[in-house]
Amino acid sequence: MLVFAAIVPHPPILIPQIGKDNLKKLKKTVAAFNLLEEDLNAARPDVIVVISPHGEVNFDAFTINTNQSYSASFENFGDFSTRLRFNADLGFINALKGKNETKLPIQLVSELKLDHGAAVPLFYLTRKNNKRRIVPITYSMLNYQKHIDFGVALKEAIFGSDKRIAIIASGDLSHRLSFQSPAGFSPRAKEFDKKLIQLLKKKSVDGVVGLDPELIENAGECGLRSFLILLGAIQKMNYEFEVLSYEAPFGVGYLVGEMKFT
Ligand SMILES: [Zn+2]
Repeated sequence: MLVFAAIVPHPPILIPQIGKDNLKKLKKTVAAFNLLEEDLNAARPDVIVVISPHGEVNFDAFTINTNQSYSASFENFGDFSTRLRFNADLGFINALKGKNETKLPIQLVSELKLDHGAAVPLFYLTRKNNKRRIVPITYSMLNYQKHIDFGVALKEAIFGSDKRIAIIASGDLSHRLSFQSPAGFSPRAKEFDKKLIQLLKKKSVDGVVGLDPELIENAGECGLRSFLILLGAIQKMNYEFEVLSYEAPFGVGYLVGEMKFT
């Protein structure tokens, strides 16, 4: 069964060895991750499905990493000391792939190292328990509806399993919120973040799928497709979307939100 679902950002600067003093500027996000970690532990999942934009992205297939185990480390960001290890849930991955063989394009890859889209949130969410099995998924460049469909398939696999499962949809909002933004400023970036958060609160899946492509393009986000998979997985469930934090101290929108099941 699905016991937990959340949306999280993934700036490597959140890792203490990387962020150092800059972490102070991400206080709200850190506090929200602390809350999220408590709620996750209270939900006692056996498995954490983590959806990331930054694994191996295939244009026309969803990607699942089927390595036996995974490592999370941050050498690319100058941190040579933080290192985490996780085990895979190959049984769950096989069930998800097997049930959808003819329906959805799913590509299996085998990579020891998790990308930072998965590794940063897992750093925060597994501090008290790193024994949970991990299922790393990377979204595709297929259209938005296909991501909803993949979410529905994920949900069916979750409810076909006797395990307690959490979904973490990892992604940042607009990368163009200020003149300091690494991706440059867009006057419509704020509008995108505001609109997306509103639609998430309203649980408007159609609204998110139907977002103006020009607005999305202007925003320069990386999280939308991760969130769509999650929305597909939970769309018929009763929940409230609670925003735990939103801030953009470096011109990139960081949203932490939890789907509270009722
Ligand atoms: Zn990203």
